Amino acid sequence: MCGIVGYIGYEQAAPLLLSSLEKLEYRGYDSAGVCLNDGENLVVKKAKGQLKVLKELTNDGKTLKGTVGIGHTRWATHGEPSDVNAHPHLSDSERFAVVHNGIIENYIQLKEHLSAKGVAFRSKTDTEVIAQLIEYYYKGNLVDTVIKVLSKLEGSYALGVISKDNPDEIIAVRKESPLIIGLGENENYIASDVTAILAKTRKIYRLENNEIAIIKRDGVKVVDTDKEEIAKEVEIVNWDISAAEKGGYEHFMFKEIMEQPKAIRDTVAPRIKDGRVVLDEIKLTDEQLKGFNKINILACGSAYHVGVVAKYVFEKVLRKPVEVDLASEFRYRDPIIDDKTLTVVISQSGETADTKEAMKEAQRRGSHVISIVNVVGSAIATESDDVIYTWAGPEIAVATTKAYSTQLAVIYLMAIYFGDKLGTISGEDYQMYISELEQLPEKITKILENKENIQYLASQNFNSRDVFFIGRNIDYALSLEGSLKLKEISYIHSEAYAAGELKHGTISLIEQGTLVIALATHEALLGKIISNIEEVQTRGANVIGVACENHPEISNVTQSTIFLPQTCDMLLPSLAVIPLQLFAYYVASLKGCDIDKPRNLAKSVTVE
Ligand code: GLU
Repeated sequence: MCGIVGYIGYEQAAPLLLSSLEKLEYRGYDSAGVCLNDGENLVVKKAKGQLKVLKELTNDGKTLKGTVGIGHTRWATHGEPSDVNAHPHLSDSERFAVVHNGIIENYIQLKEHLSAKGVAFRSKTDTEVIAQLIEYYYKGNLVDTVIKVLSKLEGSYALGVISKDNPDEIIAVRKESPLIIGLGENENYIASDVTAILAKTRKIYRLENNEIAIIKRDGVKVVDTDKEEIAKEVEIVNWDISAAEKGGYEHFMFKEIMEQPKAIRDTVAPRIKDGRVVLDEIKLTDEQLKGFNKINILACGSAYHVGVVAKYVFEKVLRKPVEVDLASEFRYRDPIIDDKTLTVVISQSGETADTKEAMKEAQRRGSHVISIVNVVGSAIATESDDVIYTWAGPEIAVATTKAYSTQLAVIYLMAIYFGDKLGTISGEDYQMYISELEQLPEKITKILENKENIQYLASQNFNSRDVFFIGRNIDYALSLEGSLKLKEISYIHSEAYAAGELKHGTISLIEQGTLVIALATHEALLGKIISNIEEVQTRGANVIGVACENHPEISNVTQSTIFLPQTCDMLLPSLAVIPLQLFAYYVASLKGCDIDKPRNLAKSVTVE
């Protein structure tokens, strides 16, 4: 998920690798490392924490010999951030070194297989199996071996591989994680994004899935898994550094919105095996699960909104009462909670002070805590009784998008998994939910492809003074997030309202031209929300509807409608949130706001 660099040429490699890694620092990471072939051995130096620790350790790389090497900044997914878990990883006899971005989903099976053959592992990472597999299958040709190893790997990866015996070659390959080759004069590079090499070259090859690059000093050859050569076109990059950091987009938030299909796939796919949800990372026993009479969800901000969706989902699927609390309020109200309560805490950073303190309060009262966290090794992840990680990768924009979406995905996985164990979910629904969950990335991609529609709606409405987001049931939960997104980044005042509640008060605020975004995805309450839309229409509101494509009739009562692909009710927030994020983004962009760093807000709120 984080950064890969590699160099082969005639200059000392280590200082170059470190300065390339510096260019990738903006992506966030928890440790860094390099490996050089010094002509005799593979020499690895790595360190937890900032790159400057590694730079100090190696005198900016000057103490490391060799003109070929690979480097990495790690965003831990498997194994806590530490010196040993940092990349590069060496094979058992130190003949091969690997850097990896992504997740190897079947690493446990592979590790067990190799351990049974006597291979000794040093780290807790999924990555190390790749280095060990290369050594295990090596018969004299590294490309052949890498191809063989790829056939064993499930998951996503960008890889850089070097060997002790061949100081004249780097092998690079990718699947679902980006990797580019930088083309120089008598020197070549690999990098996970162009920022790392822009200072050296603007000529690149973009590797596609399963393309294998054999990189030497005087040239690069790209082959497929049958070793057939692929004619690659040289791309000339004319981005400046700041555009390159954002993958060519103007803002991190937009890049992260676009990354959501992948983030959800990375979070869901490893947990579905042979058509069944497997959460083998949690220790909670079936007996414990059956003993709970209540579920308690604690979170702040957007994570709290995930909690509100979860209330509907868990109550429907698990048939247990669910309470959702703002973590900042929970501790101060003498909550009724004990060892019969399952607590779920949600935090992107895993360091949110309010959530952490609320979690401790729940634990003091005997409750078992499962956390949903994006940052491996963070305080909440380590102090909770169980943790289920979202694999969204680093999120840089302050306003969350992909972390929200992956938190939701985890909620769905939990609902399906626990529902099966509790016997509250039918076999048919179980299959249906899994199949729909697996299709989410594809459907989100479809919505993202139509983003211009939403940009147009934003252009018509960015001067609004007040906006209302209304919805019923799970659509109400979603309206909370839609409204927060808009106000966070565009500074337009907005309210989220349970649609049926409007007439009990706030409908008095609707006047000619007030923008109302009506979420109408929940099929069972369609008739009701249509009535609520009519209520605001009669009072002059300008209504944008969000509905599924099988309900075109919504257009009869709205000025404009955003249509979504169909899925089951429970999963609709995952689709419907996308146009709301895009709407907020485009409005803020038209207003010229500082989208990635809205005023007064911080990414990780570590004070109470
Ligand atoms: N899954 C790997 C690990 O945790 C790679 C992480 C990354 O992409 O930085 O070590």
